[in-house]
Amino acid sequence: MLFHSTRGKDSNKDFASILMQGLADDGGLFMPDHWPQVDLDEIKSKTSFVDIAKCIVPLFTASSFSRDETIRILESTWHDFEHQDLIGIKNFHSVSILELFHGPTAAFKDFGLQLAAAFFNKVLESENKTAIVLGATSGDTGSAAIDACKNYGRIKSFIMLPNGNMSEVQRRQMSTIKASNVFALRINGTFDDCQDLVKHAFKKRDFLNNNQYLLAVNSINWTRIVGQICYYFYAYNQLHQKTNLNFSIPTGNFGNVFACYSAYKMGLPIKKISVAVNENDILHRFFSDNNYSKQFVHETISPSMDISVASNFERLVYDLFLNRDSAKCFKMFDNFPVNPIELDPITWQKKDHLFSSSKVNDLDTKKIIQETHRSFNYILDPHTAVAAVEAFDKSDENNHYVVLSTAHPAKFPKIYEELDIEINSLPFALRDLFKKEEYLHSFDADYNQIANFINRNN
Ligand SMILES: *Cc1c(COP(=O)(O)O)cnc(C)c1O
Repeated sequence: MLFHSTRGKDSNKDFASILMQGLADDGGLFMPDHWPQVDLDEIKSKTSFVDIAKCIVPLFTASSFSRDETIRILESTWHDFEHQDLIGIKNFHSVSILELFHGPTAAFKDFGLQLAAAFFNKVLESENKTAIVLGATSGDTGSAAIDACKNYGRIKSFIMLPNGNMSEVQRRQMSTIKASNVFALRINGTFDDCQDLVKHAFKKRDFLNNNQYLLAVNSINWTRIVGQICYYFYAYNQLHQKTNLNFSIPTGNFGNVFACYSAYKMGLPIKKISVAVNENDILHRFFSDNNYSKQFVHETISPSMDISVASNFERLVYDLFLNRDSAKCFKMFDNFPVNPIELDPITWQKKDHLFSSSKVNDLDTKKIIQETHRSFNYILDPHTAVAAVEAFDKSDENNHYVVLSTAHPAKFPKIYEELDIEINSLPFALRDLFKKEEYLHSFDADYNQIANFINRNN
């Protein structure tokens, strides 16, 4: 299995190359040359998450690693989870909550980033090289990247965070890590400023040592998607292979939704994928009005979904709508966001067999948190709550809904204070956070200062 770019100019890449490269040279996103098919009967016979991952991950890594090598990596990839099988499931009538927040940073991003980090390290060891991880974060990506990489001596992580709408817990998860290869950089600017700095750094690369890799950890890295594909199959098994499954997914950059779509293309039998967004509704505008256009970011109570564009969306457009026509895809996304994306109506309707979407404002998010707490004594995190609205609304005996629970509510304590809901069990990851010292390096949004800092600490 080889990989190529959605924009057509970068192709015949093996797994290790796209892992280390992140974004394609032509600005596109990497895709597998075809959708590998799972052996569903084999998967049905597995119970643990890791055993299911062993049926899926090798399908993508074979161009660089033997099956045995991949399987050995998978045996130690996911670590420091508090749940014995990594994932919890809670059932409330015809709605199930898939708890993906039992990892060391209490959000689902541990699944994809721990897998990426394990393979980063494998490549670095075999080539005897080192790497800089550089990323921008507005929420949970940064802490998951830091945690996933901190035990690998060959990797130094520099994560930029804006002065912005991030919970104090989220910030402290990054700033209280005491490790010589981890640096949290607080940027006097917005998340977009941070992302621009990262983009600039990937062009200049002037702080790197000889032969050193510069690694991207944002959600366009294909390996993160691979880690996430696995839990859709896990949910299918845990729910006794129901034939009427729908997944409702709280969405920002469309990574998690694309992982679900990938699972479907690989043979997971599902009915519908429900794309749930907050006030930042670019995806909802696309699915309901065929209007994918960039707008300003609104700050909401589900900050990890506060985005203006959904970076993984290009993969779906390429695969589903354009029938993998990379020339068309190039044109469309090269002209975006100056020109909004609107598909011809026939093409656009191809979404109808698999996708629906919903937009939920802060008020309704709080309402469902309260209702779920009152009815089931269960506390939804604000991101999960956004996706729960459609699930509780549309589920019935013919339609079982699985809501992806992407974070632990204790990451966003202010909301629960306001709602007078007490969170009585803190995940291990979040205990003592407020007693620890913060190690933050503050910068203006100035590339040279930051490059100098990385260079000095490299
Ligand atoms: C990152 C994140 C999301 C959005 O995930 P995407 O893959 O970007 O759509 C949703 N909820 C939480 C808690 C997150 O951290």
